[in-house]
Amino acid sequence: MPKQQSLFDTAPPAWEADADEERLQATVVLPQGPPGEFDYLVPDELADARRPESLAEPGRRVRAPFGGRPSVVGYCVAVGVKPVGGRKLKRLAAVVDPQTLLSPGMLRLTKWMAERYLCPWGAVLEAVVPSGVRGRAGTRETVLLSVPTGVAARLASLKVTDAGRRALEVLIASPKPLTTQQLMHRAGCKSGPISTLRKNGLVTAHTERLDTGELDQQDFDRESPKQLNEDQSAALKEILAALDSTEHRTLLVHGVTGSGKTEVYIQAIEKVVSFGRQAIVLVPEISLTPQTVGRFRARFDSVAVLHSHQTDVERHRHWRRIAAGEVQVVVGARSAIFAPTRHLGLIVIDEEHENSFKQDSAPRYHAREVALQRARDESLPVVLASATPSLETWHAAQQGRVQLIAMPRRVNNLPMPTVSVVDLRQEAHRTVGRHGAISRPLHQAMHAALGDGGQVILLLNRRGFSTHVQCPSCGFALKCPECDVSMTFHRHEAIVLCHWCDRREPPPNVCPECKDASIRYGGFGTQKLEAEVRARFPKHRCLRMDADTTRRPGSHEETLDQFRCGEASILLGTQMIAKGLDFPNVTVVGVLSADSALHWPDFRSAERTFHLVTQVAGRTGRSSRGGRVLVQALDPEHAAITAAAKHDFHAFAKGELPEREAAGYPPFGALLRVIVRGEAEPLAAATADAIAEGLRKLGGDAVRVLGPAPAPLAKLRGAYRFHFLAQSTDGPALRAAAAEALAANKPPDGVLVAVDVDPVDMM
Ligand code: ADP
Ligand code: ZN
Repeated sequence: MPKQQSLFDTAPPAWEADADEERLQATVVLPQGPPGEFDYLVPDELADARRPESLAEPGRRVRAPFGGRPSVVGYCVAVGVKPVGGRKLKRLAAVVDPQTLLSPGMLRLTKWMAERYLCPWGAVLEAVVPSGVRGRAGTRETVLLSVPTGVAARLASLKVTDAGRRALEVLIASPKPLTTQQLMHRAGCKSGPISTLRKNGLVTAHTERLDTGELDQQDFDRESPKQLNEDQSAALKEILAALDSTEHRTLLVHGVTGSGKTEVYIQAIEKVVSFGRQAIVLVPEISLTPQTVGRFRARFDSVAVLHSHQTDVERHRHWRRIAAGEVQVVVGARSAIFAPTRHLGLIVIDEEHENSFKQDSAPRYHAREVALQRARDESLPVVLASATPSLETWHAAQQGRVQLIAMPRRVNNLPMPTVSVVDLRQEAHRTVGRHGAISRPLHQAMHAALGDGGQVILLLNRRGFSTHVQCPSCGFALKCPECDVSMTFHRHEAIVLCHWCDRREPPPNVCPECKDASIRYGGFGTQKLEAEVRARFPKHRCLRMDADTTRRPGSHEETLDQFRCGEASILLGTQMIAKGLDFPNVTVVGVLSADSALHWPDFRSAERTFHLVTQVAGRTGRSSRGGRVLVQALDPEHAAITAAAKHDFHAFAKGELPEREAAGYPPFGALLRVIVRGEAEPLAAATADAIAEGLRKLGGDAVRVLGPAPAPLAKLRGAYRFHFLAQSTDGPALRAAAAEALAANKPPDGVLVAVDVDPVDMM
């Protein structure tokens, strides 16, 4: 390029008009603002290979003039020489990132997401690149201990205490220097002997600037692979064959809780790591406990963790380590699927049926779908694991699109716990006194278990004390004025609370409507259950775990630890106690109202109920002491309950799939939900009508539109909500028609439209 070009640089033209000239151009998408891809001319100074920090490259952010504004930040998604074609192109102003944030593979994946989830590409990119990725370093000065040369040879003749000798042995055997904390842990000694060694010059110390994450990692005792049983070996063999094939395949490990699925995929990952490749393991956010992560740290040298509660600095640090190729295994919640691994070898999704893999804000992606797409693109296998697979995955397995691996037995042939259903309609089962939630059979089972020194888990899927506040004389029910849902009474905090918008009010003493003093607090929440348990079993300590008791970081794990080590005999709580926990001493599990979610306006309500009961039932009988599960229900004959009671996934799937097929719901058809909200009710309603009408016309016979109607949560945080569902057997046609209908019906000011492809949340 001619040097005189730089003359313009002091006063560059806003745009350049040229005919058929070929010029270097960058394609840019915007994180906010209009969707679409915009071409810019790349000025020479941003194309200079000698200045890599300001090179316009795909996967970096750039600054460019846009729509009257002199400079907005966007993502560069492509760079190449193209004809200008008579367009008036503006010039890139600057390059923001000194390195690329997104590999070509990640650009392809995010583009696929944009099309799949009807979300502008720029918005997808903004969601996928953690905001902390350009954040501060997060390092700390650290004192590290090592042994001077020569000491090892003299070890036998040294005059040191036993503890000192152990510490020296550990330090000599360690391949890298250790912190005092690490050395104390590994040698099992106090800091005293280590200070003495330092004073005597047998241990030397130096300071290094280390990654704080490295230090915060607890020192885990290493574990070796377990000798696999027959089912496990067979499962591992199939996964290894898939790895050998070097092509994309999806495998479903369908194994009951405790069948040893985790051990199998850990051994598969050991193989992957031995080839110098990496693995991503997705687990539900709530299962991402130190216990889970510890299991990986005990088996791999370098594990990174990614989840939504991390600070920007933490997330950035893990991201950088992964991108630098320092990490073998990435364990994380759904967003870990975007981990910038260099040579990914395997993706594992544990508890693949979990709804938390679906993101509930734009882009509303499902991590399982994204994982499959990433794996197709990078030609690698995906292992899905579950005791209760999603019907989507199960259906695919039955059609042969997913390879099924069955592990129907527990490790060491432990029996599955017996599950009995307590019919709450029968008078004999009711509780003593009409106000209790614990039925007579459950009380007796708890009594027997506690008397034997066993532990008890109770699940009640509603937090708070009373779930509704109602006046018996005029019928008035206390509702959140912003959300139009019942307010829940929280006795501990002495408030009534809206579980959707967190509005808090003092509890009324008299009916706000008719001033009657007999206003009642009805329905059961975990706080009321706790009070009942304390009254019934005053000698036993009881722990409650729900969203209210686990606000403080780490409190979730603290409660579980207390229960695990036997400080309390009863643990009660919402579904957060049902997931992935292993308590050998639990001999009774009670589910208080198993069918409370069965009648939700959601086609997956039976599946959810089945999952919940099955998962919580898996929390007992993990040792030779056996275990019992009691499921209280008002609708005990419901297929979801009877199948869960028999641990019979096949029976459940066999009953449920034909119903889905008849109604055209997933996995038999594609589904899309549009939610329209606004403070002006008629305006929101009219917008929903217009989009639905547009989609009906554009979709023709291929698309069925149900609605619009007020959403089950008809008012939320002051906004009225309308929604409709659209179904089709042709997913791409449905999405194309919806995209067009949405583009043609832009919402007026004050109305917001969200589109949810393959929705999970139907409220
Ligand atoms: P799942 O993931 O199917 O629930 P896990 O892999 O967690 O099962 O195994 C359940 C328990 O059995 C764990 O405590 C695990 O350490 C143990 N375990 C798994 N495989 C074996 C084996 N082959 N031999 C002995 N114990 C095993
Ligand atoms: Zn509210």
